[in-house]
Amino acid sequence: MKKKRNGRSSLRLRFILICMSQLVLVAALAELAGWAFRHWFGVTPELPIFVWAMVFSGTIGVAVTNHMTKMLIDPIAKLRSAMREVADGDFKVEAKCESRIQDVQDIYDSFNSMVRELSTTETLQTDFISDVSHEFKTPINAIEGYASLLEGEPSPEEQRAYVEKILFNTRRLSALTGNILLLSKLSNQSILPQKTQFRLDEQIRQAIVALEQMWSEKELGFEVELEETPFFGYESLLLHVWTNLIGNAVKFSPKGGEIRIKMMRTEGAVVFTIEDDGPGIPAGDEERIFHKFYQSDNSREMNGNGLGLALAQQIVELSGGTISVENLPAAGCRFTVKLPIVVKV
Ligand code: ADP
Repeated sequence: MKKKRNGRSSLRLRFILICMSQLVLVAALAELAGWAFRHWFGVTPELPIFVWAMVFSGTIGVAVTNHMTKMLIDPIAKLRSAMREVADGDFKVEAKCESRIQDVQDIYDSFNSMVRELSTTETLQTDFISDVSHEFKTPINAIEGYASLLEGEPSPEEQRAYVEKILFNTRRLSALTGNILLLSKLSNQSILPQKTQFRLDEQIRQAIVALEQMWSEKELGFEVELEETPFFGYESLLLHVWTNLIGNAVKFSPKGGEIRIKMMRTEGAVVFTIEDDGPGIPAGDEERIFHKFYQSDNSREMNGNGLGLALAQQIVELSGGTISVENLPAAGCRFTVKLPIVVKV
């Protein structure tokens, strides 16, 4: 209460001071104008002080209004028309601020970065839709092609081969839709599974066993060193991570190659690494391999859709961890996953 009264009396004091200084200013200006008239025209204007006050207040008012319009109203009008353009779907707009007021500059900076964000999101969405359409088109075309070949009169071997190709492409489509669905669920973070307590080392062993058919066909060797790790987290999601990383290592390893898998516990975290002696990651693509639909040129013909690592990264980040890749000096690459060990409460 006291504060309010203090505030009010200081406001009143300020107002009185402003009025008094204006009066002094007007009187000084009137004196100055009288002197100028006498000096240049040799006459002394006999005007009452209130006329001078009106003349100078008017001049000062016009100057101040002009200045304020330039500083505040113009930038707001400019921003409004830029906003209209964005609302009409043009995300290339960049509003240039000519005001020297810091707050106005900050509003322009925020507006420009918002438009940049919107533009990136729109590009990502457009790219995503065109990538999805492309990835769907290839297996659908293949299925259509083999189905029409079956309509002819193929030999029993040809029939078997065509049916196998159709099944292969159907599985590809099913994996693709599954991955897209999971990606969208994770992006919305709407339907996350419950966290449960499980053994990470056992889950990784299960993933290796589940891929046995793939690695035994290629006669690959495994060197596995997994520290016992009780873990509280997204069990079913993390299985995707190990299956993808081990599956990729198997896919890209040369026949008879070796895969080295390690998991160690450190202070409050667990570090998983997987190394292979395949072709490694093309130089400069270490970040891009985690983008949706990324596939290096030499892996396009292989089984896959470029969504596995994007999913793995989302799951790891959702678990509070990180995933990275580096090429090894001799051959192949090493993926590293670091996950914080969360204690169940
Ligand atoms: P895909 O289903 O194509 O394997 P991923 O998202 O799992 O999709 O991987 C994306 C791309 O990253 C692969 O197509 C390949 O070019 C590259 N990549 C992933 N793992 C490896 C690896 N172990 N060795 C070499 N390249 C890899």
